[in-house]
Amino acid sequence: MKNIIALILVLSICLLSGCAEKQKNTDINTNYLSADKYEMEIDFDNSKHTISGTAYITITNKTNTVLDELHIRNYTANITNSKFTNFKISGKKIKTHTDEKDKSIISVSLNKKLRPDKTIIISMDFKTKIPKRQDKFGYAVFKEKEIYNLSTCFPTLSFFDGEKWYDHPYIENFGESNLSHLSNYIVTVNTPDNFSVVATGDETVKGNSTKITGENLRELALVISNSFSSLSKVSNGTKINYYYLNFENNDEFSNAILEASCDSFELFSDYFGDYIHSELDIVHTFMESAMEYSGLVMCGYPDASDDDVKNLDKSSKEHGFLPSQQSRVAHEIAHQWFYSAVGNNPYLEPWLDEGFAEYCEDVLYHNLSLDTDGQKKFDLFMKDYIKQVAKDRLIVNKGYPDYTESDSYSKHVYDGGSMFLYELKEVLGEEEFERVLKEYYNTYKYKIAKTVNFLKIIKKYDTDNKTDSIIKKYIE
Ligand SMILES: [Zn+2]
Repeated sequence: MKNIIALILVLSICLLSGCAEKQKNTDINTNYLSADKYEMEIDFDNSKHTISGTAYITITNKTNTVLDELHIRNYTANITNSKFTNFKISGKKIKTHTDEKDKSIISVSLNKKLRPDKTIIISMDFKTKIPKRQDKFGYAVFKEKEIYNLSTCFPTLSFFDGEKWYDHPYIENFGESNLSHLSNYIVTVNTPDNFSVVATGDETVKGNSTKITGENLRELALVISNSFSSLSKVSNGTKINYYYLNFENNDEFSNAILEASCDSFELFSDYFGDYIHSELDIVHTFMESAMEYSGLVMCGYPDASDDDVKNLDKSSKEHGFLPSQQSRVAHEIAHQWFYSAVGNNPYLEPWLDEGFAEYCEDVLYHNLSLDTDGQKKFDLFMKDYIKQVAKDRLIVNKGYPDYTESDSYSKHVYDGGSMFLYELKEVLGEEEFERVLKEYYNTYKYKIAKTVNFLKIIKKYDTDNKTDSIIKKYIE
């Protein structure tokens, strides 16, 4: 009896108030804390191996929640000496608290509540030691050629969806955790003589300063070196710049990488839709594997000895590593469509960028160089491979922390993602599947997509429920 009265009461409150709970906006594309603009002045010092400066972040509260604190991420705080200090809003100092378990999470107490639709500018100073390591953040010196990979090391607003902060832990080598909407950047980088800066966004050089301007970027990333050589070519109306360290015996290798970059860029922009940035920079640097950013790709030199790197033309022929480097570049360029333009949560649904990029590399780019006979052989190989691994049931839509070692993150997310898309293509047919991918890209570019969004588009094109068993095989 009591419960019935309570239920009637709840129902009448819902009817009167419009049931606020049910109407809560949970769409992360309209309901989020927006970093509209990042402005930074950065000093780079190669003798001390540091970056320091001041950052100003313009933030608009696009949620329905009144906020009295913000989370800023200093992702590299757990791996190097890095301090963010002197936090201010409108010139007034504000209190901060660094998380005890994860030093990369800084809670900032606002001196005045941030109400929905209101904007504030928060500033902070930063100073970070760059470690000597061949990684997305770190530097390497090779025969007096210095190269600094600077990403994940600049002040970043954490993601907030109106209810919770997505403070995913920083992942060093394999995997990413930064979820962000697109932002605009105006950044000045001051360097010592003879150093040049390649960045997400467009670079303008004046003396020892490089001004970077970029619209709709997921993050800021820089590569700084005293020894860059470069080659450029226009592909489908966009300038592709390839930067590398010139060892004199690398011309053939460098030209082949530029060609692969232009070929894959043309292929993907024709297939999915227009590229969203103004230019694309590909940089060969010292790091494991490779890493994608908005309008920028960091690509690791092949796993080769010093002499091999100095003589890439010759060693490419001896070791045969040019084709794998071309494919790697194609994979990273595909991320411009699936990661940069169509965003996703790379920590909780990594297959949405890695599986798609792997499909672009393994199927679309690979087929580019094959004749009809070669494509038939490739299809037989894929079908046989899919049969062989079918017993493993490669669930693709789990988060980074949900895969155990025996699951193998890369086998599921990369290979499984690619096979899932391949099987969908087989059942829907080449042309229909291209339409699906075009619609998915054009619906979610400039936004963040989830697995359910992709599946909804698939179902729209699948009138006979042909895809059901394939979806059940890969999606949990
Ligand atoms: Zn990737």
